[in-house]
Amino acid sequence: MELNTLEQSLHTARALVMADLAAGDVAEADVVSLVEDAVTHRRWWVEQWPEGAEFVAGLVAQDVQDALLERYGRWPLCPVCTEEEPHALDVEPELGPDPHWVCTKAAVAVAPVGALGGALRR
Ligand SMILES: [Zn+2]
Repeated sequence: MELNTLEQSLHTARALVMADLAAGDVAEADVVSLVEDAVTHRRWWVEQWPEGAEFVAGLVAQDVQDALLERYGRWPLCPVCTEEEPHALDVEPELGPDPHWVCTKAAVAVAPVGALGGALRR
């Protein structure tokens, strides 16, 4: 794999996750730094395993989700299960291409990672 492809996958992952954060009004300065940290970590990861480049977006989304859970709370909240206790969406596949935010309770794919804005607008 060429370096450009690797950089492109990281750039895309960053843009997709930032779009989802902005959709939920979570894209504040300290949250942006969480995304930068996740991208930096996954840059190392994908350099070790270039075949995983197309998995990076899903992984960065999960990294940011984990980091937010400690500092901010559950993100992103499920827009489908509005009558129950709020719960977070999960990324599926956890390690694969074309990651989506899914509600495991209702067993529905809510939106592709990077397109959460369309699902939250109602
Ligand atoms: Zn749900």
